[in-house]
Amino acid sequence: MPVPWSVFRQMRKSPPSKAEAVPRHLRLSEEERRAVADHIAAVGADGRRYEYTPEDQDAAFDTLEELRVHVPGFSLRDVNSKLSIQYSTHSSINTTRKNASGDPETVWRWTRIYQCACSINNESGFRPSKKRLVGWKKAGCMCWIRVVSTHESGSVKDSCLLAIDEISGILTHAESCTAESTMDLPPRIPLHPELRDFALDLVRRHIPLTQIQIECRTFSRSRWQDAVDNVNHRYILTSQDSTSLYRSYRRENGMMQRTRPEDNLDKWFRTENPMPPIPALTEALIHYQPHVPGENDRFMLLLSTPQQREMAWKFGHKRQLIMERHLWCMLRTPSSVHPPRHR
Ligand SMILES: [Zn+2]
Repeated sequence: MPVPWSVFRQMRKSPPSKAEAVPRHLRLSEEERRAVADHIAAVGADGRRYEYTPEDQDAAFDTLEELRVHVPGFSLRDVNSKLSIQYSTHSSINTTRKNASGDPETVWRWTRIYQCACSINNESGFRPSKKRLVGWKKAGCMCWIRVVSTHESGSVKDSCLLAIDEISGILTHAESCTAESTMDLPPRIPLHPELRDFALDLVRRHIPLTQIQIECRTFSRSRWQDAVDNVNHRYILTSQDSTSLYRSYRRENGMMQRTRPEDNLDKWFRTENPMPPIPALTEALIHYQPHVPGENDRFMLLLSTPQQREMAWKFGHKRQLIMERHLWCMLRTPSSVHPPRHR
């Protein structure tokens, strides 16, 4: 790996270690969290910080390899790995070195928290579930790892790894965990990023799903022949992928998946400070009446694009229009306290 050491020496020191605290992002019950905290209080946390010297960095990369920790942008995750990232965050840091424009050169510091699958409590965390969907069974392991690293970019896709700043946590697995060598469920193999980008581009172009599947199959054969997957990625599109692709597309267009539909609609069409995903929605709005409990019993939204209005005047004014069909559209009734908007 080409390592620009001259850059490292000009960067500020890595942040102070927080290894003594149990990260709140770990999926543990309160009892398990207390046990991990007690363990750290009794024997201390493992790990260390690394200087920007060839010796220290070599040691850091050896440790990552030994622990089988993948760092996105540098190494791929083996689908059989027990370690999964529960939390990641990053921020930019200006170095004293100047780029060609004379501005400070920026690097990015990433912090990631990994947790051993044999310690994951599926009823805890951001998306708790009664059913254990984790491939590995619980084995009383306490292993979790914090990796702080410095990268060229804040984007995972091209975030060339420059240096490892810290590896800490509880770095050893319990004996009962090490004894577990077979997964209960088949591993989840992520779609190859190139194939995902290709498919997402087709979604953006509003290509029908069946056509997307055909084109992805052709793309996959041209790149990987008849291979289905490897230990890192899958080359075949599944029905779950289409859900994920359309979710990504909606997110790109400002449709927040964790926001209720009525809240999204109100954000786009409210009178004060409307924030539509595309300006064309505002241009097309001719009437918006949110449902306000106690004031009215209906939500109403009338949209007509400038082209539709032009066509309506051209073909409909003082003439008879025969419609091919009519559509009923069932929508959830949005609640809002904002006053109706008329045009
Ligand atoms: Zn473990």
